[in-house]
Amino acid sequence: MPVGVLALQGSVREHLDLLERSGGKGIPVKTLRELEQVQGLILPGGESTAMGKLLQDGGLMAPLAERIRRGMPVWGTCAGMVLLASGIEGEETVHLGVMDMTVRRNAYGTQRESFSVRDRIPEMGLGEVPLVFIRAPHIVHAARSVRILKTVRGAAVAARQKNMLATSFHPELTAETGFHRYFLDMVEEAGGSRMFTAP
Ligand code: GLN
Repeated sequence: MPVGVLALQGSVREHLDLLERSGGKGIPVKTLRELEQVQGLILPGGESTAMGKLLQDGGLMAPLAERIRRGMPVWGTCAGMVLLASGIEGEETVHLGVMDMTVRRNAYGTQRESFSVRDRIPEMGLGEVPLVFIRAPHIVHAARSVRILKTVRGAAVAARQKNMLATSFHPELTAETGFHRYFLDMVEEAGGSRMFTAP
């Protein structure tokens, strides 16, 4: 079964290309039917308010949240991180609300809206990789069960909670395949445990 990239808005093509270059098979997911065909899902960067509205309007929000709660591996990049969060600073509502963390949108302010650094992420088994931040969120609070994988400039920008991965930055806008390989490993592990627990 392939891995999906939520294709309502945002950097969809870039994720599909990198999935392929990382040895995976990716398909765009716009409908419930397509969601049923994937064993993991990437929520791309873009605009979280727009994506949240399209998820609601298309009837995907509740079924997607349910599949994630049941263990489907999911990875949110940038706006995707905002979609996953159980809290958004200064806002009353959340989107999927499945990952126990509060995020701050556009956390780097208007003057430094976009920047890029190179750094290692030993927690993900990655050597020096490019980290591209575009109007990026960061994590301001996380439950103990959320493992912070990376901090940049003192702020948490990558985290994992069970089957959920969130990054403030955009690996899909670089040539780096390490993050996609990490996610494909998560998908493979989830597949393995499902087989193991089958009756
Ligand atoms: N600022 C956007 C949001 O909150 C995210 C930006 C991005 O994905 N590059 O939705």
